[in-house]
Amino acid sequence: MDTNDFQVIKQHLIDPEICIRCNTCEAICPVGAITHDSRNYVVKADVCNLCMACISPCPTGSIDNWRTMPKALAMTFIAVLLQSLMSVGAGALWMGG
Ligand code: SF4
Ligand code: SF4
Repeated sequence: MDTNDFQVIKQHLIDPEICIRCNTCEAICPVGAITHDSRNYVVKADVCNLCMACISPCPTGSIDNWRTMPKALAMTFIAVLLQSLMSVGAGALWMGG
């Protein structure tokens, strides 16, 4: 990890709890910024130009406008997992809360 990793950048986050994996967003993105693995859809922050074309076509409202996050966490499926865990308060469970 270098000093660039501590920079804060914007990245759309797709909520895996709501996403129905319809692929509409990936198909509509004009620059190929959206990809997926076997579980989650992710917006690659280094490719996304923030055009917002993916937001309204999503049938479930799964795509946040964007969040700011450390560059080191952007573009990864780990970031999506962390977002999901934080939304259900799993972090508190890990801490014994
Ligand atoms: S905002 Fe535009 S460039 Fe970024 S992921 Fe959505 S459609 Fe693609
Ligand atoms: S358009 Fe919405 S529901 Fe469909 S894959 Fe993309 S984020 Fe998921």
